[in-house]
Amino acid sequence: MENQTLKKLYEEYGFSEKTITLVKEVEQEIKPIINNIDEIAQINSIKVLQAFQQNNISDMHFNSTTGYGYGDIGRDTTEKVFAQIFKAEDSLVRGQFISGTHALTVTLFGLLRPGDTLLSITGKPYDTLDEVIGIVDNPSSLKSFGVKFEQIDLKNNDFDYETIQEKLKNKKIKVIEIQRSKGYSTRKSILIEQIEKVIKYIREVDKDVIIMIDNCYCEFVGTQEPIEVGADIVVGSLIKNLGGGIAPNGAYVAGRKDLITLVAERLTAPGEGKEVGPSLGITKSLLQGLFMAPTVVASSLKTAVFASKCLEKLGFDVEPKWNMPRADIVQTINFNDKEKLIKYCQGIQMGSPIDSNSIPEPWDMPGYTDQVIMAAGAFTQGSSIELSCDGPIRPPYTAFMQGGLTYEYGKLGVMKAIENII
Ligand SMILES: *Cc1c(COP(=O)(O)O)cnc(C)c1O
Repeated sequence: MENQTLKKLYEEYGFSEKTITLVKEVEQEIKPIINNIDEIAQINSIKVLQAFQQNNISDMHFNSTTGYGYGDIGRDTTEKVFAQIFKAEDSLVRGQFISGTHALTVTLFGLLRPGDTLLSITGKPYDTLDEVIGIVDNPSSLKSFGVKFEQIDLKNNDFDYETIQEKLKNKKIKVIEIQRSKGYSTRKSILIEQIEKVIKYIREVDKDVIIMIDNCYCEFVGTQEPIEVGADIVVGSLIKNLGGGIAPNGAYVAGRKDLITLVAERLTAPGEGKEVGPSLGITKSLLQGLFMAPTVVASSLKTAVFASKCLEKLGFDVEPKWNMPRADIVQTINFNDKEKLIKYCQGIQMGSPIDSNSIPEPWDMPGYTDQVIMAAGAFTQGSSIELSCDGPIRPPYTAFMQGGLTYEYGKLGVMKAIENII
């Protein structure tokens, strides 16, 4: 009965017989993976609920402050909740961070001093950090302040252990950056087990080097977070996983107390640090977003698995494959065809709740080197925990798709995109 109604609605919504049949098959096949995702969401939900309860979150924490924001109990308690979830000593969770890029920038400027060296061991960092680091010239970059940058590329999708050891023995490194998610590259994302192994290895050579993780897109994908496997500090965006689609903006940094203090004093002012920063009424949204995050991340993962299987069946090269372990919520699809990439992204936009009638086109986005096409019919501007898809216009014409506030809506978006390319 329901099946007939659904089929009729699918048809009315414009899905072809081919898409409807494909989807039916795929949904059967991915069931075991979907069940596993639900189990992970259950574990992360316990973590979140305990953190709320043990920090006595109550109505009074939804307070708002203005001006300096002294004594903002909601903000301070939210930071305790985030710290607990990450098993970190301290955290900074602020709307004063515009997004992940800004939090990464403030963290790097907070930790590094002239003459210091930053070493990335996951190859070139995320595109928006090019001008921050000085890989692309900018008069305000870390490089312009005399901070050096070096990178070691991954080798067969894993860390290049030999080169890392050699580097650490020959040169004093201040901060090592590990970016878990692949960004706009074709490599695989880094699993927590790989991070655990490389951190143990690094510690054998250098006990003091600060290990910083760009954790964007990876929170709650598994059941362990980077501090638990030895990282010193993690950074992530609240318009991604932990914002749960509800945080209006912001980012977090969690980790060692001394490091969080350095970052806080760069975000606000030396001597003021964490004590200032008005919450301007967003604390309830941050907490509610965190509360929803385990389920929302699970919905995004399900949407990614669904898309991976569908597009693989249609003959496209996908990463990860539907049944492979995932480190982040990102699904890549190589179209090897500029028009197909554009059509797919446009289809995702057509399946969105917001701006479904505007057609995205490739454009020169600030902070990115190539032209980028971005589909994001989101409630929050640029939010990529909501179903979104983007791709730099360069071979192999790869779409980077992520998000999905619910699996049902995520699936419909993917179906619309598929319909647009077949
Ligand atoms: C998205 C992302 C960033 C930047 O975060 P924004 O919130 O978009 O500024 C940095 N690093 C990685 C790996 C990302 O995926």
